[in-house]
Amino acid sequence: MARNIIKMAHIYKGYMLGQEKVPILKDVNFEVEEGEFVAILGPSGSGKTTLMNLIGCMDMLDEGEYYLAGTAVHGLEEEDMTQIRNSEIGFIFQNYQLISTYNIEQNIIMPLLIRGMSTAEAREQCREIVKMLGIDHRLRHRPNELSGGQKQRASIARALVSKPAILLADEPTGALDRESGRDVLKLFGELNEMGNTIVMITHDLNVAKAAQRIVYIVDGRLYDSAEEIPQEDK
Ligand code: ADP
Ligand code: MG
Repeated sequence: MARNIIKMAHIYKGYMLGQEKVPILKDVNFEVEEGEFVAILGPSGSGKTTLMNLIGCMDMLDEGEYYLAGTAVHGLEEEDMTQIRNSEIGFIFQNYQLISTYNIEQNIIMPLLIRGMSTAEAREQCREIVKMLGIDHRLRHRPNELSGGQKQRASIARALVSKPAILLADEPTGALDRESGRDVLKLFGELNEMGNTIVMITHDLNVAKAAQRIVYIVDGRLYDSAEEIPQEDK
């Protein structure tokens, strides 16, 4: 049987507003099996980024249980969260988050160097991935010399290089023109076929459709199908 990479049960998360806690995520249940490609689809303000921060171990949940690749994240201190985040999550952001003063190769191998790998070994590990992503001829360039699509490929390479349990993408095509966006989604499909587990967050149904499965977030609640969304929230 396939293994659950993500298992979230009865998750609550709110933010303090003055003296009061404003609830944002309410009783969220979410499971992802190894090898799945899942989209979390929801309108602006529905809680997508809040949920992504929890999935990505960048923030602590208020209530509930979260298991990531078998580890109980809900019981961890901040330091251990950083560790599991670095080893299990490959982040892909809308705005790429590449370091502008580094060349593309330096950007990609950075997570490996941080972990203490030698530059030679890190470059070796990077080689296959950049070839597969078609950016091997851009390694010596700075991010601002690349197209949007190439920058996103570089950020995907950086996410892949440390072999994370999941790729976690927040609006990965949000800054791209249509064609580059389509290319990135096609690439996600290929990476998924190669066995990568992908969770992609988006407000765009057409983007979400690239995934195998869509879950819906509306007003901080997660639904497994569009039919389950209460009528007044649709
Ligand atoms: P989305 O990514 O779907 O647009 P967010 O998760 O960013 O939604 O935000 C969900 C709700 O939580 C919004 O109403 C937003 O104003 C609120 N919110 C987000 N971050 C914070 C924060 N750090 N402090 C207070 N409220 C926040
Ligand atoms: Mg957001």
